[in-house]
Amino acid sequence: MIKIPEVFGELVFGEAVMRERLPKDTFKALKKAIADGKPLELDVANSIANAMKDWAVSKGVTHFTHWFQPMTGATAEKHDSFISPTAEGKIIMEFSGKELIKGEPDASSFPSGGIRLTFEARGYTAWDPTSYAFIKDNALCIPTAFCSYGGEALDKKTPLLRSIDALSEQSLRVLKLFGNSSGAKSVNSTVGPEQEYFLIKKDLYEKRRDLVLTGRTLFGAKPPRGQELEDHYFGAIKSRVADYMAELDTELWKLGILSKTKHNEVAPSQHELAPIYSLVNTATDHNQLVMELMKKIAPKFGLTCLLHEKPFAGINGSGKHNNWSLSTDTGVNLLDPGSSPEENAQFMLFLTAILKAVDDYQDLLRVSVASAGNDHRLGASEAPPAIISVFLGEVLTAIVDSIVDKHAYDKKKESYIEIGVGSLPKIPKDNTDRNRTSPFAFTGNKFEFRMPGSAFSIAGPNFVLNTIVADALGQFADILEKAKDFNKTLKTLISDTLSKHRRIIFNGNGYTDEWVIEAKKRGLLNLTSTMDALPYFIKEKNIELLEKHKILTRKEILSRYDITVETYIKTVRIEALTMIDMSRKAIMPAGEKYLSKLVKTAANKQTLNISSEFEKTMIEKLSSLLVKIYSYTETLEKTLEEAEKQADITNEATFFYSKVIPAMKDLRTVADLLEENTAAKYWPFPDYATLLFSV
Ligand code: ADP
Ligand code: MG
Repeated sequence: MIKIPEVFGELVFGEAVMRERLPKDTFKALKKAIADGKPLELDVANSIANAMKDWAVSKGVTHFTHWFQPMTGATAEKHDSFISPTAEGKIIMEFSGKELIKGEPDASSFPSGGIRLTFEARGYTAWDPTSYAFIKDNALCIPTAFCSYGGEALDKKTPLLRSIDALSEQSLRVLKLFGNSSGAKSVNSTVGPEQEYFLIKKDLYEKRRDLVLTGRTLFGAKPPRGQELEDHYFGAIKSRVADYMAELDTELWKLGILSKTKHNEVAPSQHELAPIYSLVNTATDHNQLVMELMKKIAPKFGLTCLLHEKPFAGINGSGKHNNWSLSTDTGVNLLDPGSSPEENAQFMLFLTAILKAVDDYQDLLRVSVASAGNDHRLGASEAPPAIISVFLGEVLTAIVDSIVDKHAYDKKKESYIEIGVGSLPKIPKDNTDRNRTSPFAFTGNKFEFRMPGSAFSIAGPNFVLNTIVADALGQFADILEKAKDFNKTLKTLISDTLSKHRRIIFNGNGYTDEWVIEAKKRGLLNLTSTMDALPYFIKEKNIELLEKHKILTRKEILSRYDITVETYIKTVRIEALTMIDMSRKAIMPAGEKYLSKLVKTAANKQTLNISSEFEKTMIEKLSSLLVKIYSYTETLEKTLEEAEKQADITNEATFFYSKVIPAMKDLRTVADLLEENTAAKYWPFPDYATLLFSV
């Protein structure tokens, strides 16, 4: 039995270890540098590096690495050993402040969207002291940001760190107006990402080229049984899976990751892990580690972990629910309605800022969750629709309505809401979380952004959330700081803003067609695919916003746009090529084999004068399907060739979306029909029922 408190954080150079191992002055200087966001003096860095090395070496570690999050969405590391030769021909273990603070990985093959040309291939990594160093794979991992030589962000983390500063600055202006009673010096977002994933048997996985090469099945007839019985959800966890989860938890706890709940999800073989929330930067690092360990530990149990958003057509896909709130460094949750009139007024202002932000920047939020993988999920009646709206729940919505329409909040009791005067009615917590169809739901003291895909880094969605909310708060502070009568200005500001942005509130069922029509009437965006959404990323209003808050420069935005478009193209192209490969090398030959068996049987039966009606019907059916498969495969190949001829990458990606994907669907439809009509022993790879029900 493992003793959690003993192993928890044992692989992390965290607060307690630092206090114990760093000289007092060094510890103080580090804390101050973090609080002020200032770089460390070299002697302080040297002292920290040395303590880190001694601590790591005491745990048998031989190497260190700058750990960073390039635009691939994965994490990257390059291990260097601590050894350093001495004059006597021996070695000592060394790690300097310089090596801690800055690294220069040869990073020419990470995506840069044209920012970093190959002749200046070296980017550099810079230590992010707000995230703790940790030990993984026998190496001391230093969390870092990754930039080009010119200082442009080449990673997911840099804009996130910048957005935390923007959020803090603007939130503090607003807090100050309300007296900042807790004496907060900074505000940060807190995040708890719930991670969904599939586990299937490794030997079956390896028999499917589509899963191996693309992470999802590109073919596969509907199984006789899918998820309709809904018996998997929260069901008993099978022992192999339970063992896997136990080991995963232990490894996560060692890394100081607060893995808290685990359960079975809706689809067969689908599961979820939720951590206890933490500051967004840590939550982001931790979620990357969660995904990495989920994949790494699975083979030990004969399993493979699938993090793709849609591994199986017709079965629920996987997402990542990003629970998000705002917290002061003094521990106050700013999205907690509170009980005094002042707290309520402040809460209503923050809530109003969020509604305004989400409405004004629906497009940016949608872009932040756009990928080829997530396109299969959003709007497919299993995940939120592609339309962004906010679920507030009955009570808060009634409050908003009464503020905007200037009527009593509770008509029977004639009770009025007056900002900053009376208290808000108690907002019941659990009453709010029933609607699972909303993309952005208020759940008592936080919002749950449910659109991110399971394979995403949460850095993107969170830097967008932080920035758009910072901007709305900044606009409010501009007005309120100048106000002669604070309470009057505040009331007008809240009621005007709510009346303008109330359209973003929707508490109904987001999966229905009526909502699509209603949302259109309200003027809300419905960007159903990545290629519909992406052009909005580079709209002038969005570039202005990101530049204003120093999150990303125009050049960085354009490079990220290119990277996202290119990733989309590459993803779909690999899928299309894999389909062609599977069709020609496995599916058609399997059909042929079964066909010739039927032909032989039919011929034999004829010589014996036995009816071969069954064979004849099947022969005709299969022959015609095989002709179709052949011709759709040819068409897909030709369509791919056409794609290459497009003038630029945006056109090419749009072509992939509008032409290549439909050609893939055509091929899949006939191939799946062939699967349904072919004897099981001829089919070249495991079918859906086997994949989904054998763990
Ligand atoms: P459940 O979904 O089981 O009801 P919760 O809604 O309480 O559980 O929590 C879901 C996730 O939200 C967890 O990861 C939790 O840590 C996180 N969470 C709870 N409070 C906050 C908060 N203030 N900020 C960010 N995340 C939070
Ligand atoms: Mg929840």
